[in-house]
Amino acid sequence: CFILAIESSCDDTSCAVLKNNQVLSNVIAGQKIHEQYGGVVPELASRAHQSNIIPVVHAALAQANIDKKQLSAIAFTRGPGLMGSLLVGGSFAKSLSLALDIPLIEVHHMQAHILAHFIDHGQEMPEFPFLGLTISGGHTQIVKVNDYHDMEVIGSTMDDAVGEAFDKSGKILGLGYPAGPIIDSLARKGNHDAFKFPIPKAPDLDYSFSGFKTSVLYFVQKQTQKDPDFIQNNLEDICASIQYTIIEILFQKLNKAVKQTGIKSVAIGGGVSANSGVRERLLSKQEKGWKVFIPPFEYTTDNAAMIGISGYYKYLQDDFSSLDIITQARIPM
Ligand code: ATP
Ligand code: FE
Repeated sequence: CFILAIESSCDDTSCAVLKNNQVLSNVIAGQKIHEQYGGVVPELASRAHQSNIIPVVHAALAQANIDKKQLSAIAFTRGPGLMGSLLVGGSFAKSLSLALDIPLIEVHHMQAHILAHFIDHGQEMPEFPFLGLTISGGHTQIVKVNDYHDMEVIGSTMDDAVGEAFDKSGKILGLGYPAGPIIDSLARKGNHDAFKFPIPKAPDLDYSFSGFKTSVLYFVQKQTQKDPDFIQNNLEDICASIQYTIIEILFQKLNKAVKQTGIKSVAIGGGVSANSGVRERLLSKQEKGWKVFIPPFEYTTDNAAMIGISGYYKYLQDDFSSLDIITQARIPM
């Protein structure tokens, strides 16, 4: 079958075409407009989706070399995400399914970040059950994945997401937005033992990052009072130390989850899974007998290919949505 998938939950407008579990095209239009505000402005995101969506869908069909009449179903992100953004992709998907008279398939954005591992590009795929660590701009979750659409969140952040911890730390350091990838590349040249940040306390498998961000802020303020050039003179070491601490926080709870569940198969997903330090740390766990799964870079941050693969497994089960389905800013897993 051929599935056309649409993702518009945040600030990337994306459309993909899949032939069964393989990706024929995956077009992503980012939105530069938010950079000047240091974060995503929801109303501007929604408007940019409106102007991007038709060209992006045309490009995805053209790159896949598929006519829309050949499509078997339309998959779209129902949520979670920004309401105004979701509405654009959702309305477009509904209209297209109605016009082409083919099934509509709703997809959960965070499930999709995990199911990206089932896009076939010749790699080994995880076997159920496995643990998913979804680390992104809006979420930080440890998920027990029992089946394609049977997932249990066994740990999650009580406040900020890990992507926000990267982005807000970057803002304190005067770096651009999103700061995650910038911190990643600066950290590679720095010494991660240079500065120490406390590991926040959170119950059981949950996370907390708001205290971490505050500790970065106080640390930088204090050091800058002593030396106004502190940031410039130590940027690489500061980034390495921040990134190292964030990875420590992530893996303390992940280790605990592996122990508690006895599941040693772990797949990471979401924008922060692009981080080189996170990838290295996960790979090192193979020595402890873990089986680890790391997505290709193009499937870490938001993309419609992951929505397409999630839609594909629902298509196989005739799990379709009705046209009166509504997009939702928050949906439980
Ligand atoms: P959600 O999926 O929770 O709705 P989102 O879709 O906005 O949130 P993603 O696109 O999955 O989030 O991820 C974006 C986040 O990933 C940003 O916070 C960004 O800084 C972070 N990120 C991207 N690349 C890296 C990297 N190499 N290192 C650290 N963080 C990164
Ligand atoms: Fe996302």
